[in-house]
Amino acid sequence: MGTDIVVVGSINADLVLQVERHPHPGETLLGTGAVTLPGGKGANQAVAAARLGASVAMVGAVGSDPQAPVALSGLRGAGVDLAHVLAVDGPTGLAVVTLADDAENTIVVVPGANAAVTPAVVDGAEAVIAGARVCVLQAEIPLGSVVRAAEIAHAHGVRVQLNVAPATALPRATIALADPLVVNEHEAAVLLGHDVARPEDAAAELAGLGAASVVVTLGAAGVTGYADGASWSLPARPVTPRDSTGAGDAFAGALAAGLAAGHPLTQAAAHATRVAAASVLRLGAQDSYPGKDDPLP
Ligand code: ADP
Repeated sequence: MGTDIVVVGSINADLVLQVERHPHPGETLLGTGAVTLPGGKGANQAVAAARLGASVAMVGAVGSDPQAPVALSGLRGAGVDLAHVLAVDGPTGLAVVTLADDAENTIVVVPGANAAVTPAVVDGAEAVIAGARVCVLQAEIPLGSVVRAAEIAHAHGVRVQLNVAPATALPRATIALADPLVVNEHEAAVLLGHDVARPEDAAAELAGLGAASVVVTLGAAGVTGYADGASWSLPARPVTPRDSTGAGDAFAGALAAGLAAGHPLTQAAAHATRVAAASVLRLGAQDSYPGKDDPLP
């Protein structure tokens, strides 16, 4: 029996440093706290979807260091199938996050074991990809592996949700397999090669790259999308954010869960804005994601 969702993507440990403000280049600041949390865009999106009740399988890799169990802890807690997660020699993927009092963050990611998720590993997971309703992808594993996963999913009639994050030069043919392509405003500008004057036009313009549908997240300004020749926009939920780390992943995981449940894109996106709003109210990425019975903003 297949799963609702297969995520082929990154698994990291997030070292979160709390600071009053971000340091300037060359400056040393004293932080106010440090904590190591499970992260990685792939794992975050898997956890977000699984917490909402979707059955989720993860294809990825962790290292042999003490960070590996931390990196896997959220996935385990959410009941994600880890049969296709490799344990390789060397370090687990690590993200160093500085989180300032204004809730803005900066992030540096060192891929570590995520580099071991090669196209050959993706080929080995063909059966689990083929058995899913939605294949959820990001760009924190080798690009050739993202390409391969999208191709395998498409060949088996599995819907591809492609989040081009971080902004990466994926082949146009891969972007054309996305339904939806999911990006934030910055990633949209990189994919288009220019800044987007009116965010509501960005999704339509991105659809010109060939994806059947496009979703552009706009932070506190909400989300805009394009499908079937029409644009739509939804406001964000009005909340006072504490930590926006992983909001985009909460959104993407919830979106995939809605699509796997058979909901139309706009309905899935509307629910995802509520899940993402809930996630910015609490510290951390996965730890901040709501369960299916939790009240949402
Ligand atoms: P990313 O984390 O990838 O940059 P965004 O910042 O666009 O993604 O956030 C993703 C989604 O999370 C938004 O579309 C919105 O629905 C929600 N969100 C983000 N920040 C806020 C906020 N301050 N208030 C309410 N919702 C938010």
